[in-house]
Amino acid sequence: MSRNTSTPKIAAALAATLFGLTACTTAEATPTPRAADTPRPGAAGLGDRLHPGLGNGGYDVRHYGLDLRFANDLKHYTATSTVRAHASQALSRFNLDLTGTTVREVTVNGRKARWSRSGEELRVTPAAVLRRGQRFTVRVRVQAPVLDAQHVSKLDAGGAVGLFRYGSWIQDLNQPSGAHRIAALADHPAQKAPATISITAPSRLNSVANGELTATRRDGAYTTRRFESRQKLATELLQIGVGPFTVVHRNGPHGIKLRYALPKDQARAIEPQLDRTVPKAIRFLEGHLGTGSFPLRTYGVYATPVGGSLETQSLATLAIDELTPEAFANNGTDAIVEHEISHEYFGNSVSPRRWSDAWLNEGHAVYYERLWGHDATNLEDSVRESYRAANAQLRKEGPIAAPRLSAFKHRAMAPYGWTTYEGGALTLYALRQKVGEADFQRIERAWVREHRDGVAGTADFIRLVGRVTGRDLGPFLRSWLYAEKVPAMPGHADWRS
Ligand SMILES: [Zn+2]
Repeated sequence: MSRNTSTPKIAAALAATLFGLTACTTAEATPTPRAADTPRPGAAGLGDRLHPGLGNGGYDVRHYGLDLRFANDLKHYTATSTVRAHASQALSRFNLDLTGTTVREVTVNGRKARWSRSGEELRVTPAAVLRRGQRFTVRVRVQAPVLDAQHVSKLDAGGAVGLFRYGSWIQDLNQPSGAHRIAALADHPAQKAPATISITAPSRLNSVANGELTATRRDGAYTTRRFESRQKLATELLQIGVGPFTVVHRNGPHGIKLRYALPKDQARAIEPQLDRTVPKAIRFLEGHLGTGSFPLRTYGVYATPVGGSLETQSLATLAIDELTPEAFANNGTDAIVEHEISHEYFGNSVSPRRWSDAWLNEGHAVYYERLWGHDATNLEDSVRESYRAANAQLRKEGPIAAPRLSAFKHRAMAPYGWTTYEGGALTLYALRQKVGEADFQRIERAWVREHRDGVAGTADFIRLVGRVTGRDLGPFLRSWLYAEKVPAMPGHADWRS
């Protein structure tokens, strides 16, 4: 997500909506091999230090299916999530993340399962115990109203927003934890998996989701479109769009398929800016990170009337207001576009192991956004500006790779603060100063290549830096990432904070 691009509409809605995360269940210790054969409940969360209840223990997700059906007036929906998984221990029961919504049916391997709810957890007890190593499929059907964006503030929301309606448009905004307001899922990026998303909506409207459109079926007043995401998809990056838009297609660099979902009446006015910026930004990033390194075969933009900018995988969410020729000329929209595209490497392809690792998403996105927008002199000025603010911000929010939950007014929005964005970018700049341009590029290229379509965290990054450079830079990086006082900037001993 971009730091300063939420339109007032959604910013106000978010501010009014988010109250803080309540359901926090600690993870159980990983069972020993023998204990893993004795059926026990799976852990309620992955033990994320900021969001301990997100994700679920006892199984690995292999595939997500999400089937969404919207009522003709768009005011209600049914969501069926089908999670194919692999038990990593013998399971007497296991959890999915879910909040709000009404549960209609839960099955495991096609048989009805007992279920109960506790906080933001759905506990599922299968009719038969699951053996360690067993593959299983859990299907959960829920129903819920679609939130009206105008009344989002009335919600007792404990997480990010989820799915909402704005006139005849539907959009979701999940980062970091809104997806389990929509359907029952393992709502943590460490449990990402390939996904199939089906959207059934009134035929008068169009629909889009992550991945590639693989089937369209019209059945009277309703049309179903199915989208396949072969790359693993974190639930925070789910894209669901329904509205009066048209989808235009383009050929991007070396065969990357581009698509833009644009409001019918403004498509012609928006296309030239995207045609000019998107292929150029992909080439720019490949120039730094390796020719042919872009992690996807398809990329695009979903233009929304509501606002916000979010790196929803393979189909970024950008506000219509930010896509006009005027916005590109005056608001620096091309940098926002570039920021969201860089997330396809940092955050989407290489996903954070825990939410405290999100500086690796946002720090990189801000770093490449700066490189894109500035020449060398301006870049240095802009980093120095950020360095000056660092100590005050670190005191407030805590270390870059270990932000304090209590520092966030809306705890559900942790770790999205200054340190994750600017602190992360400062650390990367400091590393480049320390190792030089050539080694820095080798680090960056190795990072996105070795962890492509994977999950990696701060410790993985520190190890990789050591291996690529042949130097022990652990103490240097940890002094940047785990301290509340900013270290001296290599090469700029005169900089003060
Ligand atoms: Zn971002």
